[in-house]
Amino acid sequence: MDIEHPRRWPRWSPLRSSDSSVNAYDHNEEPNVIEAESLDYEVIENVAYRQDQASRGKLHYASYVAFKWLSVLLIGIATGLSAFFINIAVENFSGWRFSATFTVMKYSYFAAFLVYSLFNVALVFSSVKIVTKFAPAAAGSGIPEIKGYLNGVDMPGVLLFRTLVGKIFGSIGSVGGGLALGKEGPLVHTGACIASLVGQGGSAKHFVNWKWLEVFKNDRERRDLVTCGCAAGVSAAFRAPVGGVLFALEEVTSWWRSQLLWRVFFTSAVVAVVVRSAMGWCTHGNCGHFGSGGFIIWDVSGGQDDYSFYELLPMAMVGVIGGLLGALFNQLTLYLSSWRRNILHKRGDSVKIVEACLVSLLTSVLSFGLPLLTKCTPCPDAEKYPDIICPHSEGTYGNYVNFHCSNPNEYNDLATIFFNTQDDAIRNLFSTKTLHEYSASSLLIFLGMFFSLAVITFGTAVPAGQFVPGIMIGSTYGRLVGMFVVNLYKKLDIDEGTYALLGAASFLGGSMRMTVSLCVIMVEITNNLNLLPLIMLVLLISKAVGDTFNAGFYEEQARMKGIPLLESRPKYFMRKKQAREACQSQKVVCFNHISKVGHIVSVLQSNNHHGFPVVNRLQSGETVVIGLILRSYLLVLLQSKSDFQTSDSHGDIRGHFTSRHRLTEFAKPASSRGLSIHDIHLSPEEMELYIDLEPFVNPSPYIVPEDMSLTKVYNLFRQLGLRHVLVVPRPSEVVGVITRKDLLSEQPAEDVYLDEHPAVR
Ligand code: ATP
Repeated sequence: MDIEHPRRWPRWSPLRSSDSSVNAYDHNEEPNVIEAESLDYEVIENVAYRQDQASRGKLHYASYVAFKWLSVLLIGIATGLSAFFINIAVENFSGWRFSATFTVMKYSYFAAFLVYSLFNVALVFSSVKIVTKFAPAAAGSGIPEIKGYLNGVDMPGVLLFRTLVGKIFGSIGSVGGGLALGKEGPLVHTGACIASLVGQGGSAKHFVNWKWLEVFKNDRERRDLVTCGCAAGVSAAFRAPVGGVLFALEEVTSWWRSQLLWRVFFTSAVVAVVVRSAMGWCTHGNCGHFGSGGFIIWDVSGGQDDYSFYELLPMAMVGVIGGLLGALFNQLTLYLSSWRRNILHKRGDSVKIVEACLVSLLTSVLSFGLPLLTKCTPCPDAEKYPDIICPHSEGTYGNYVNFHCSNPNEYNDLATIFFNTQDDAIRNLFSTKTLHEYSASSLLIFLGMFFSLAVITFGTAVPAGQFVPGIMIGSTYGRLVGMFVVNLYKKLDIDEGTYALLGAASFLGGSMRMTVSLCVIMVEITNNLNLLPLIMLVLLISKAVGDTFNAGFYEEQARMKGIPLLESRPKYFMRKKQAREACQSQKVVCFNHISKVGHIVSVLQSNNHHGFPVVNRLQSGETVVIGLILRSYLLVLLQSKSDFQTSDSHGDIRGHFTSRHRLTEFAKPASSRGLSIHDIHLSPEEMELYIDLEPFVNPSPYIVPEDMSLTKVYNLFRQLGLRHVLVVPRPSEVVGVITRKDLLSEQPAEDVYLDEHPAVR
């Protein structure tokens, strides 16, 4: 039934912006294009739900709580093990590549280059092949999509099992293949995929299904688990459990509850323990080239622990440079990524594969060729700096790399960055043990080259994170500033490594615009609390500078991908608009509470709306809105056919109705299309039957008066995570007023238990 909706106001689209892509998610990475859909976070308090709640006893709650904690434990363990597996694989591939290159180099430089570049291209090829042929949604960092998910938008394919597999193996190929990208963003995505799969009891499609975990098979519970998964990803990537919790809170989530904090914290702690234990197992050479240095922790605790007043200005300068370069990086990657999405990648998978292989070749040429042009430097005094092994024994690679040096006691500073794993290269850049181990020219060359490579590489069809490239870029210019300051204040005890660390923080702050979480992550990974105030200073400056030019990296990428994020603040113009002006369609499509099956089918075929008001016609001729029914519910009812009835009479649903459906039947799996009206086949006789929708409607959808300001609607929508809000005329009467006191009133004794045990809820 269509109800005419009076429209006297100009049309306005809430999602329409100057960027037309915002209205629909054009997932050009995905061959079968599906539009993004909003998630249903609201509790649908229909008859089935109420019956389910009434049947729950203490035992039910106890098992629910046990499953909740068990699922986050599983997420922590699985994410920790995945991170460990990725690290082992990356370190070993890098180790084999470097040792093969150095071995062949004894005979011929050209042959060594061939070995080096072919190794890289082969790994990158495997990564891009996995992504293009098997898991398109695994391309990129995944953080913008997860941010979108936690903001209420489900992107196609993002949390599938195949995406998880693609992300893990794709990251190994892209990071192991020496591209200018990191594995940290992909690990956040990995954690989120694991969490989503745990939340829906595995993947039925891949025959890994645990029915007992299906208690969490709804968008609301899954949102909480995905938040835990994100924190677990950061905790595993950086071995920074507190940073992981804060990252989830500051960067990815849009809603936060205090109960969730416990579970996120627990998951991060589990990851830290799993990673630590797994690393312990690797200490005696069990894991090939993977040793104690394999996981990020760039300990600078022995370095500069105090700073002079004179240093504050250069440190602030590091913050400004970070803000400028970070904003430039965001802008350039944005231009390039949109060009790729709209033009280059539209030409097919083979173009994506060739592109990634060419970028890999370019990276190999530059990283092999540039150190050849660099002069070697004598090794630091071994007695003065016993921790530094320089150079490593012939034919191997290590921190101080003897590459193209005539004297075995010399090292090549550029090769020391290029011919190391990213973690070891950063450890060198942060190094506080010696002075001047890098020449300014080498650092400048590396900065220019790596910045350009990072811009070009991001957006290729491989899993890619921006944390480590950001840290490498930042620490390079930070160290350059440090060298300048050391020369300026010769009498002060200044360490270049400290500036490298501040540079890294400033670039990440200038690009990603995080503050608290980044600060804690930097402190956790460098193990130096003394630098906390300085890191805070550069982060604040770099964020402020970056914000004057553009939005943060993930927001820009999300916008470019057409993910309709609801930002935390409504736009200014919304103050002048009213709720009714935001409604797009001229007619509200409603259903009668008892509707003909054929009518429901034809309505669902004729539009794509996901929610429909359900109305009851009274004998007086008036209509009363009895609630809102979701399209997904209607599809399940049509498919099951068990609620079809022959007459249009209405039974007493409160007294006798017993739901034939479990609540989980109505839930759609994450990131997939779910049921479609085209999947449902009904005979002409079935089309003539009726269905009583009343037991399945959400009887208490959120309702706003038509003249409420759009700012208020926005805040309601954003803060409660809504999908639909009904706009109604001003009500004619008021039945009561609820105040704070009413919400604090006495409650039945049997429910007190639940409040005394907050973990239960
Ligand atoms: P979501 O995935 O969040 O449901 P959507 O944009 O795909 O988002 P639709 O249900 O297709 O959601 O809504 C598109 C537009 O149609 C909205 O702007 C809304 O104003 C309008 N609309 C939604 N439901 C109805 C309905 N039952 N009757 C009339 N108009 C509707």
